Amino acid sequence: MTREFQVQGVPVSELARRYGTPLFVYDGTALRDRFHGLRDRLHPAMEIFYSLKANPNISICALLHSFGARAEVSSLVELTTALRAGVPPQQVIFLGPGKSRQELAACLDSGIHAVVCESIPEVALVDELARERGVKAPVALRVNPRFAVKRSGLAMGGRPRQFGIDEEELFATTDLVKRFPDVDLMGVHVYMGTRILHEAVIVENTTRILDLAERLSAALNLELRMVDVGGGLGVSYFDGESDLDAQVLTDGLHPVIEDFTARHPGTRLIMELGRYLTAEAGTYVMGVRYTKTSMGERFAVADGGTHHHMAAVGIGSFVKRNFPMAVLNRLDEPATEEWNVTGPLCTPGDTIGKKVPLPPVRPGDLIGVHRSGAYGPTASPGLFLSHGYPAEVLVHEGRCHLVRERDSPEDLLQRQRLYDPTAHDAADVPH
Ligand SMILES: *Cc1c(COP(=O)(O)O)cnc(C)c1O
Repeated sequence: MTREFQVQGVPVSELARRYGTPLFVYDGTALRDRFHGLRDRLHPAMEIFYSLKANPNISICALLHSFGARAEVSSLVELTTALRAGVPPQQVIFLGPGKSRQELAACLDSGIHAVVCESIPEVALVDELARERGVKAPVALRVNPRFAVKRSGLAMGGRPRQFGIDEEELFATTDLVKRFPDVDLMGVHVYMGTRILHEAVIVENTTRILDLAERLSAALNLELRMVDVGGGLGVSYFDGESDLDAQVLTDGLHPVIEDFTARHPGTRLIMELGRYLTAEAGTYVMGVRYTKTSMGERFAVADGGTHHHMAAVGIGSFVKRNFPMAVLNRLDEPATEEWNVTGPLCTPGDTIGKKVPLPPVRPGDLIGVHRSGAYGPTASPGLFLSHGYPAEVLVHEGRCHLVRERDSPEDLLQRQRLYDPTAHDAADVPH
């Protein structure tokens, strides 16, 4: 019998039969091991917040929360998701450069731990909303530091950015606390960048961020009840990359955190992680519809594609690099051929894998993209060609749970209106 990919004993062919393809499958045990692999080694003073952006599924959020994760959100729906998943408001922070008045109001009304403000006009708006409500708004300032991260997949600080307030500007605005009386300036946030795969870089960033937070707090006379050191912990996807070693990382962080907490015992320390927590636990499963050759190259045309998994096209690089992929229903067959794995979209860009070493592929095979639990459908052009969202299944403790239904044609069409040539909206200019 051929060996098949299984999630906690459930064969992938059974998942495909039951839920159809394309499909995202999440392994709850992998998620738990990933979380605990870090949590159990990390200094206890450092709290882990889950960045919902990486995978906003409410069940993923709830499961991570059941292991001990808190939540970092960046939109009204993410906030609602975290609260409905059972995360207490005091374990939620909200950040993002363009928060609406409605989102900021929801932050204050739900009583979250902190609103991370990314500009001074935003602090002013929070101040106004707090005054209207007769409350003091807990605000942490996101700083765009002078220093930049080295060797990150995507740097977020140290250059002109829409994120955060420049370090120089903050040090020059010493009347901030006085200027916004209804804001409780209580913390500092810095996020240096993402996809960092070097332990020493994360340790160095953390050291510099904690030092910056101390200096800012002294200069601006703001309380330091929270410092969010960002994170940016990466996951290896491509040949030549290797995963972070959680032990090496936490050993490196320990003295830095120990030193800081000795001086600031009351400060909540936060690390916000998305990809690191969820990527490994997810597999994108596509069914092969057709196989063909074109000018000497083999193509497996699948029912899934970049509309669910844009990241697989290649993140932050100009050359196409492939995510780890396999023919899931025939794992033990040697990869003797090279295949281009493409999807149903009418664009050459819909190429999930280029010249991927695979066994001979046949229609009906299930091709899996591993490490796909982060930045999948929500970070992809899901409406392109109106395919919509795939199904998502969580397997936990040997049980399967459909945690996101596949979009149906009606789901996709219901918000469109067929115009009526004999009528018009009231606001139309008459002709
Ligand atoms: C995107 C983002 C995260 C999560 O990033 P990962 O690479 O998935 O860990 C955390 N914080 C901020 C500010 C972000 O923009």
